[in-house]
Parts: sequence; structure tokens; C-alpha cells
Amino acid sequence: MEYNRNYPVRLEIEEAVELLLRKVGKVSTEQVSLDEADGRILAEDIFAQEDIPPFDRSPLDGYAFRAKDVAAADREHPVALKIIEELPAGTAPSRTVGKREAVKLSTGAPIPPGADCVEKFENTEFTDEQVKLFAPMKSGSNICRAGEDIRRGDKVMEAGTELSAAQIGLLAGLGFTEVRCFARLRAAVISTGSELLPEGSELTPGKIRSTNGRTIRSLSRKWGMETKIYGIVPDDQESIARAVADCAEQADVVITTGGVSVGDYDLVEAALRQLGAELLFWKIGMKPGMAALAAVYQGKLILGLSGNPSAALATLYMVGHPVLNYMAGRREYYLKKCQVRMLRDFPKKSPQRRFLPGKLILQNGETWFDFGSRQSNGMLNQWAGCDMIAEIPAGSGPMEKGSLISAYYE
Ligand code: AMP
Ligand code: MG
Repeated sequence: MEYNRNYPVRLEIEEAVELLLRKVGKVSTEQVSLDEADGRILAEDIFAQEDIPPFDRSPLDGYAFRAKDVAAADREHPVALKIIEELPAGTAPSRTVGKREAVKLSTGAPIPPGADCVEKFENTEFTDEQVKLFAPMKSGSNICRAGEDIRRGDKVMEAGTELSAAQIGLLAGLGFTEVRCFARLRAAVISTGSELLPEGSELTPGKIRSTNGRTIRSLSRKWGMETKIYGIVPDDQESIARAVADCAEQADVVITTGGVSVGDYDLVEAALRQLGAELLFWKIGMKPGMAALAAVYQGKLILGLSGNPSAALATLYMVGHPVLNYMAGRREYYLKKCQVRMLRDFPKKSPQRRFLPGKLILQNGETWFDFGSRQSNGMLNQWAGCDMIAEIPAGSGPMEKGSLISAYYE
């Protein structure tokens, strides 16, 4: 159907992303336990209320004493120090180390007052009463200082950071039991197409099993989202409108696939118009993934992707990744970009910006891009195991092996 469109048609990827970033907001925040926070996106800056470690401590099993007492020590003239106390990890010193005295320490034990260095067992000779040192020591040797890892008052983490292993450990070490995180961004995926069969169905003439719901759910889960597969809806305007309205009630983002091209059965736009949604754009200057639209309905973002599995993924990465990750609260929401060399020829011309899924190969200190020799909109298999999307610039002819191109990765 031809409409009088009062919104942009065929935006550049960057324009589409900027437009959407202006339209969407971030999800709400909630206070969650450290257990829940693992893998989530922090919604507050974290400041250290204590030093880590909280006291000067020994990084090894050995003896603490005053460096000046052993200044003249060597193999022939060892210095014997009197052991005045033993401090296993977890105990606190009760004595001050004086002249020619030592305290026996295990790893993690506090440095007793008076001592200014630690020597490991292996370099000493000892009995229960005394320890012999055979070499001079520098003041400060083998002492881990209080606050060496983190200083009290330091900003340790910034809002928008994904909490993974080290950060969760640091939060525990700093005494946090809960932190403020962004709520998980909720999405619902509607697969439109009268040819689509649900999972587990026997194939019948003219029908295919739907894959888009699964791929989109999997990818968006990787981004930390909570994505529901709404299911399959036939190419019928009423049914699509009802599905979008249902999903908009439950989710922050509604992702549809199929029905956004120019055919008689491409009815997603008509359904959105019927609902009174605000259409934002149609078509993006990219291949695959040109057929796509975006709208806002009841304050919720609607992303209409192509039904072609490869096109849907390309648009989801290049446009969806920054927008959805911004909404989810991430500070860094753009894909990363680097330069790679093509590992093989690419024979086709690229009148539009072309995106190729592929893999990063490190070879002789160079970054190469390996990709399937068969690339087509309808093919999902070419994406299997890929960790990059390379871009062939618009207006390129066939590309030769070794050509330098940009590639995007998470
Ligand atoms: P459309 O975007 O509706 O024009 O669909 C483009 C192509 O993608 C057609 O070959 C569809 O059969 C196929 N397709 C549409 N939706 C899906 C889906 N959910 N899973 C797999 N293929 C699909
Ligand atoms: Mg269709």
C-alpha cells in the first residue's frame, strides 16, 4: 500500500540510531542483592567507604622486623632476631617490634607496629625462638599497603557498568550486600508471516518453521534483556495490531519480524497506523536489513525488522544494539569498531553499505576477517559462530582478498 509518509524514508544507520536515541528513555532502577546484581547494569556510582586491603599486610609467609637491624647481614655474618609473637592470618598484633625482634607472619596477616619489612621463610633459618637473616632488606619490602587495591573515597565503579566477576567481588569486599541496578529491559518478539509454523511442527507445503523469535531472544538475552517470544501472527492487519497492542502492555520494546517491505502482505505499517502509533522511519540504508521500521506506541518502542533471518539480525545489531543497550542503562552502548583485512575475495558489487557476518582471525599479528563465501539475505547459517560484522562501503566494486575494511563487534 502507498502512503503519504510524513516521516523519513531510508535513513542512514547512524541517523536511525540518533533518532531512536532521542525518542527512548532508560528503564527504571531497583535495589537488588549482589546475587541478583551479577551480570546486571549498575545504576549508581560506587564509592569505597573503606580501604582494600584495610591494613598493611604480608603477601607471604615469613618474618616481619626492622630493616635497619639486618643492614650488615650477609652469608658469613647472619643477624639473629628474637621471635616475640606469631600472627596467623586473621589475628591482630599485640606487640610492637623492637630492636632485633621479629614477628612470625602468615600470608594475609597484618604487619605489626615497629616492623617495616618482611622476609620469606625460604630465605631464613629459624627455630621457635629465633630467626636468622642472611641479607640486608629494604624498608617496605614485601608489604602490601592498606588501600593498595582501593582507597577509601575512590569512585570504584560508574553507573552504566555491567557487573561481572571482579566488580561483584569488589562490591562484596567493600561491604555492599545490595546495589542499585537497572531493571532488565523487557522485549516481546512477534513473528509475522502466514508461512510460519511454530516449533516442533511437521512441515507442510509452502510453510517454514519460524526462527526469528529464537534468534532475537537469544541475542537480546546476551545483552541482558528479558525477552518473551509472543509467537506467530499471520499476515493480517487486525491480528498484527492486536499482537502489538498486547505486547506493548507487557514489554518496553516490541520487536516484530516480517511484513515491513513493499508487498501486498506487508502489513505491519498498516497495523501500526491503525493503532495510531507514531511512525519514526521506514527503511535503512544497509544490506541486508534495508526493510525495517520504527514507531512509538503507548510510549513503547516498536522495532519492525525484516522477516529475512539475516536481514533481521543485521538490523538488530547495527540499529538495535546501540538503542536497546542505551535503554538498558549501559554507559557504552555502541558496537566497537576496528579495521580488518578480508580473508577472501568478495565478488559482488555493493551499491549500498553491505554488512557481512564473519569471524575475527588473528594471523601474524594482523586482524583478518573470515566470512562465508555464500552470503544472502535469507540465510541464517552464515551467522553461526560469527563474532563480527564487517562493512563494505557503499559504491564498492568486487573486493579483493586483503582489502582493509571496518568491522563491528560487541
Ligand atoms: P518478509 O520480511 O515478510 O518479506 O519475509 C522475508 C523472508 O523471510 C520470507 O522468505 C519469509 O518466509 C522469511 N521469514 C519471515 N519471517 C520469518 C521467521 N520468523 N523465521 C524465518 N523466516 C522468516
Ligand atoms: Mg512476509
